[in-house]
Amino acid sequence: MNILIIGAGGFIGSHLSEEIINNHEDWNVVAIDIVSSKIEHLLTHKRFNFIKADILKDLDVVEEQLKNCDLVFPLAAIVNPSVYVQDPLKIFELDFEANVQIVKWAVKHNKRLIFPSTSEVYGMCEDEEFDEETSNLVAGPIGKQRWIYACSKQMLDRVIYAHGLKNGLRYTLFRPFNWSGPRLDDLYKAESGSSRVISQFLSNILHGKDINLVDGGNQLRCFTYISDGIAALIKIIENKDNCADGQIFNIGNPYNELSIKELAERIIRFAGKYEKLREVAQKIKITSMNSANYFGKSYQDVARRVPSIRKAGAILGWQPTVGVDELLTKTMDFYFR
Ligand code: NAD
Repeated sequence: MNILIIGAGGFIGSHLSEEIINNHEDWNVVAIDIVSSKIEHLLTHKRFNFIKADILKDLDVVEEQLKNCDLVFPLAAIVNPSVYVQDPLKIFELDFEANVQIVKWAVKHNKRLIFPSTSEVYGMCEDEEFDEETSNLVAGPIGKQRWIYACSKQMLDRVIYAHGLKNGLRYTLFRPFNWSGPRLDDLYKAESGSSRVISQFLSNILHGKDINLVDGGNQLRCFTYISDGIAALIKIIENKDNCADGQIFNIGNPYNELSIKELAERIIRFAGKYEKLREVAQKIKITSMNSANYFGKSYQDVARRVPSIRKAGAILGWQPTVGVDELLTKTMDFYFR
């Protein structure tokens, strides 16, 4: 099977590529990205073909590779809340427009599509746990530009679903809930607001900066270790008896629910285990700031989001296995051992 991974140089793409190359001999990867620093170790492998291309510009290259593959993962997107509010049109152009083109090519060339939706599509849904089939997708007013990412993804979900019904597109949508682990972001570039929460806290400690929590850090999130996420994606690719066709799966770890404040405290505590962080970690203070001062007025937060993973369990036979302490230890070992 030839698997095209667009955005293969990113966090999920690099781990997925690595798992396929290491453990699935019958599968080849064609990897498209504008960067390759996270996949340097795969570049010389004979079943791994990296093509440097920009999905906003190199349309012919991308379509050509899509024609030649059996299955496509369009993983290229901007996944960064500060960009959602500072440059929402960039989110629309890349996360929506460039990706909807890939969906159209998947239909035209009759290719299987595995698409990353997001836990963000549930927005401010108040359900105790989010269900793929029954939960409402709740976004704020237009002025709260943060929702452009969730709405772009939701619209893609709907377009893909419609192509499935109308044009026979074979697809699976997966919704990651805060997947985390090694290679999440570059800690030396992880300035405030420019990367994901675990990376930001690790970067703060590394650089001896206090951790400033948005609105006290009371927001609850379910952190999922990357290997658990990748295990679910492998089951989706394998698609036993076509079980994943036309399905949406939440892929998250409801047992790893933690407030952002608890996360910060735990990371500071764990930092004491690493020689290069020990001294500086003792001096890090946790402070709080108003989200309006941080992201601007067009931000709106989500208090809690917990996935129901019953469907992924029943259909894929998938369960997360890595607890939050192990997740933090493995991630911090990668960066600091
Ligand atoms: P990432 O930012 O680590 O990777 C995205 C990759 O896309 C990067 O390597 C980037 O260079 C590449 N890219 C950006 N613009 C490009 C362009 N114009 N042409 C080609 N490549 C380009 O993100 P990730 O965490 O790996 O997420 C992958 C997908 O999963 C995204 O669609 C994201 O929305 C979705 N997702 C991820 C999470 C998570 O927990 N990590 C949660 C929900 C949804």
